Amino acid sequence: MTLGEQVCDLPRAPGVYVFHGDGKLPLYIGKSVDIRSRVQSHLRNPDEARMLAQTRRIEAIETAGEIGALLLESHLIKTQSPLYNQRLRRIKKLCSLQLVRKNDSWQTAVVDEQTVAFGQTPQLYGLFSSRHAVRQKLQSLAQQHRLCLQMLGLEKTNPRGCFGWQIRQCAGACTGHEPRTAHDDRLLQALEGIQIHTWPFPGAVHLVEQRGDWVQKHLINHWAYQGTWCSQTGTWLERRKGFAGFDADSYHILVKPVLLQTLAIEPAGDDLQTTS
Ligand SMILES: [Zn+2]
Repeated sequence: MTLGEQVCDLPRAPGVYVFHGDGKLPLYIGKSVDIRSRVQSHLRNPDEARMLAQTRRIEAIETAGEIGALLLESHLIKTQSPLYNQRLRRIKKLCSLQLVRKNDSWQTAVVDEQTVAFGQTPQLYGLFSSRHAVRQKLQSLAQQHRLCLQMLGLEKTNPRGCFGWQIRQCAGACTGHEPRTAHDDRLLQALEGIQIHTWPFPGAVHLVEQRGDWVQKHLINHWAYQGTWCSQTGTWLERRKGFAGFDADSYHILVKPVLLQTLAIEPAGDDLQTTS
């Protein structure tokens, strides 16, 4: 079958598609709410001619909904390392900014996976791929919000004020021109949008997606994707025993549906409590 003929057989439904070549590793893994039309758009894209020339077979894995497609795509890209996917490479060392209350003020600390449990530790802000990236983010927040480089731990204490004060970017928390509480209130506001929420349940839950009478239940434990139960087959897809570990991509996929409860959520039962 030519690729064109294979595309005509693909479902017009949500799910994941996999481009296979001659080698063991897939060439490319993607997701869509309409697999056939998404794959057709790959075939029309001249920039992807090289990948398409290597493609022998296109596989489709339907899902009951969009969240399932996103979770499966992210999981398969990480476990199968397709040649042409670049977007979702696993971050080697996940870093974040932590706020710590000390002497009635907020101190900043750069933390990573070895020092804190992501998704379980409160007052974490942003997911970064390096400590350097955390400090860069703080620098840019300082500029935007007139925060103090000394208070943020980016500069050593200097009684003449921080560099930002000298160029009139700092509002003066370091020189006493601004009360520390006003500075810290602005810092909290600046960080509000990138807060990493802690897991809001005592244990693992199922996120339920349904299409017609087909039900899929995604097992999620502390923001980690542990597999999907499928009512059509009565079996698990990509089931992982033991805690899969915090993962930035899964967190970003899940944070809205979990916090806003846009999908039905069920406790996963005692036999699925898999926190290590
Ligand atoms: Zn300052």
